Amino acid sequence: VNEFELIEKLTRSLPTNKSVVTGSGDDCAVLDLGLPDKLLLFKTDAVVEGVHFKSSAPPEKIGHKALARCLSDIASMAGTPTAALITIALPKTFDAGFIEGIYSGISALARKHDVAIAGGETTTNPERILISVSMIGLAPRGKVALRSGAEAGDAIFVTGELGGSLANRHLEFEPRLAEGRWLAEHFPIHAMIDVSDGLAGDLRHILKASRAGAELLTTAIPISRTAKLASRAESSAKPPLLAALTDGEDFELLFTVAAKHAVPLLDAWKIQFPKLKLTCIGKITDREGITLRDKTGARPFIAHGYEHFSK
Ligand SMILES: [Mg+2]
Repeated sequence: VNEFELIEKLTRSLPTNKSVVTGSGDDCAVLDLGLPDKLLLFKTDAVVEGVHFKSSAPPEKIGHKALARCLSDIASMAGTPTAALITIALPKTFDAGFIEGIYSGISALARKHDVAIAGGETTTNPERILISVSMIGLAPRGKVALRSGAEAGDAIFVTGELGGSLANRHLEFEPRLAEGRWLAEHFPIHAMIDVSDGLAGDLRHILKASRAGAELLTTAIPISRTAKLASRAESSAKPPLLAALTDGEDFELLFTVAAKHAVPLLDAWKIQFPKLKLTCIGKITDREGITLRDKTGARPFIAHGYEHFSK
């Protein structure tokens, strides 16, 4: 089984109660705790040495990434983060200065977004550092952006540029919190997700939850400079378009809105976020799967994004 099949199996019959508005299967859980005009967002995420970061990475950047991943999921629900708990598992022999560096990376990003680090836990783990972050946040009732609301005819948008994140960006990215909130405040966002598994993989999460398909215009997909340079430098590197479609950890926002909002949204975005690119890359359809369209025609795209384990 692959990662997603296993998750589906494990989450099929989990205990629930009346607080749960949206359970497993979205970027955050959504809970109704009776706050008059807000819902609670609840999230956990872990990074593991050798999987999500190399031990040679600067510790501040490792801490930044550990917290930023959770913040990116709160952003993708159009929420505001409130507080986090940090669990860190350390090998028996650890470098105290390195761990302090991780915490200073966590703290710097938390301060920037007014997130309290409200506690945590330290434990041991043979050989590898593991950092697990649990986070709560709030979102206005009726404005939580789920994966499940995409409708045929919607325009599909993505922020920033995609591909090649593992060269560097995955340790330095800025979670799109202000952008996610602004989007939901000003436009009816039908579906939203952050790009962690790769554009195609995360678009498929939206399509599955929304029971829809998508047609992407290959020439519209914003490809990062890193992905373009990598393919020029090394013949074995992924072609840039494939890198943009399947590389993981871009942590940009991918969302859909009704087609009639596409142009007003682009105009308002340019004024609000002049430094961050926003691109319409295609449309939602009622046919299953992803279709790529270029000047030679349309073809189904079946390659997957990043998965932690397969087989
Ligand atoms: Mg996510």
